[in-house]
Amino acid sequence: MKRYHLTTFGCQMNEHDSERMKGMLESLGYVEAPERDEAELILFNTCSIREAADSRFLTHLGEARKLKRERSEVVVGVGGCWAQSLKEEVFERFPFVDVAFGPGQVHMLAEFLTSDSLSAQGYFEFEGFTGHLPSRRTRPFQGWLQISVGCNCACSYCIVPSTRGREVSRPAGELVEEVAAMAADGVREVTLLGQNVNSYGRDLPRGEDGQRASFAGLLHKLDAVDGIERIRYTSPHPKDMREDVIRAHAELASVCEHIHLPLQSGSSRILKAMRRTYDRSRYLDRVAMIREHLPDVAISTDIIVGFPGESEEDFEQTLEVVEQVGYDSAFTFVFSPRRGTEAATITEDLVPHPVKSARMERLVELVQREARARSQRFVGRTLEVLVEGTSRNDPERLRGRTSHNKVVNFTGLAAPGELTDVRIDSATSQTLAGEELLRDRVTRALRASPNPPARAAR
Ligand code: SF4
Repeated sequence: MKRYHLTTFGCQMNEHDSERMKGMLESLGYVEAPERDEAELILFNTCSIREAADSRFLTHLGEARKLKRERSEVVVGVGGCWAQSLKEEVFERFPFVDVAFGPGQVHMLAEFLTSDSLSAQGYFEFEGFTGHLPSRRTRPFQGWLQISVGCNCACSYCIVPSTRGREVSRPAGELVEEVAAMAADGVREVTLLGQNVNSYGRDLPRGEDGQRASFAGLLHKLDAVDGIERIRYTSPHPKDMREDVIRAHAELASVCEHIHLPLQSGSSRILKAMRRTYDRSRYLDRVAMIREHLPDVAISTDIIVGFPGESEEDFEQTLEVVEQVGYDSAFTFVFSPRRGTEAATITEDLVPHPVKSARMERLVELVQREARARSQRFVGRTLEVLVEGTSRNDPERLRGRTSHNKVVNFTGLAAPGELTDVRIDSATSQTLAGEELLRDRVTRALRASPNPPARAAR
C-alpha cells in the first residue's frame, strides 16, 4: 500500500484542489501517511501570492530533499501556483523534484504515477477543472464547489492570472448536480470558489432563453437544492458586485449573511496604479447598496499596505474607508513584489520597509477596533451556529460559525455538522462566546423528526 503525504499552502482554492488530489490518489489505492517521513510520495500544493509564501514552502521542500537522500525510492511532487510560475525551471533549480504540475493539471499527477517512466515530468497547461476529480473532504459537512478557474483581471500586483489562466466557468447544470450529490453525502454548507466568483457565467454560451448564466442565477439554483443549509462564496470583485447578487442574499435563506469585498486601498490614485478598475466612490457605492439591502450583513475585506507610490495621504484615505465601512474583519498585507507582475517592475517611490510596518500596525489597530465595535451587535442575540468541532482554546467548549462568518466558542451538547442556536454573551474583534440553547435543541430534534411540529420564522 503506497502512502502519500500532502502539505497545502495558500488559499481556499488550494484547499479545494488538495481535497481533490487526495480523492484522486485514494482512488489509485494510495493511503495518507500522517507524517512526511513515512510517505513514499511527498507532495506539496503551493501558493505564490507573496514572497513569504515562497520562503515558507522552500523550507519544507528542503526537508523533502533530505528524506529523498535517505530513501531514494521516495517520489517528490510539487503542484500549485509556485510550480506554475516557475514551470520547467523547477527541475533546474531543484533536480530532486520528480513531478511538477500547475493548478490546471492536478489530474496529470495520476498519469505520471501510473506511467512506467519516473523521469522528471512537468505539466503546466491550463486545462480541466480539479472539480471533476473525486474529493476527500476535510470535514464531511462542509464542501468546496469550484465554479470557475482563472481570472481575466490584471491587477498589477497579482500573480494569479499567470498561474491560473483565463476565467473559465463550469456549466450551472453540472454544479447543481455536484451540490445535490454533496447534500446527499451529508454536506450542509457549501462554499463556492473562484478567483472572481461574481463574473461567473460570462464565458458560457447563452441558454435556450437567450440569457447568459449569472452568479445571482447560480445562487438561486443552488439555494433550491434540498439539504444545503448554507451557501458561502469567495472571492468576489467589487467591480462585479451587482444588485442581483446583493438581493440574492436578502431573498435566499441559505445564502449567508457575509460578503467579502476586497478594497486593497482607499485611495483612488493607488487603486488606479493597482489596476483594480474601480475607484473609492464606486467601492463605497457598493457598500452603501449592500447596507441598504442587508443592514445586518457582515462585510470583510483585503487591504494592501505600502504599494509603490503610496503616500501618507493615500494611506490616510485607506484608514478613512475602514472607518466609514466598519468592517467585521479584514485581511491585511504588506505589499510584496511578485515576479512577472507589473508592480514588480516599479523601482521609483518604493515605500521603505519601516514605513510599511508602521502603517500596517496603525491599520491593524483600527481594523480590530472597528471589528470589536461591530461584533457587539451580536451580544444578547441568539444566533444559528454550524458546529465545526471543539474550541481551539478550551476543550470543554465547542466551536462553530454563524451565518455572518463569526467564530463562536460556546458551551453545549451539539455535534460537529449540527446547526444549533447559541445565545451570545460576549464578543471580541475576532470571536463570539455564548451558550447553546438546549431548549431549542429539543425543538430542532423534534422538527427534524419524521412528524415535526410547525416551523417558526428565522
Ligand atoms: S481579481 Fe485581481 S487580485 Fe484577484 S485574482 Fe484576479 S488579478 Fe488577482
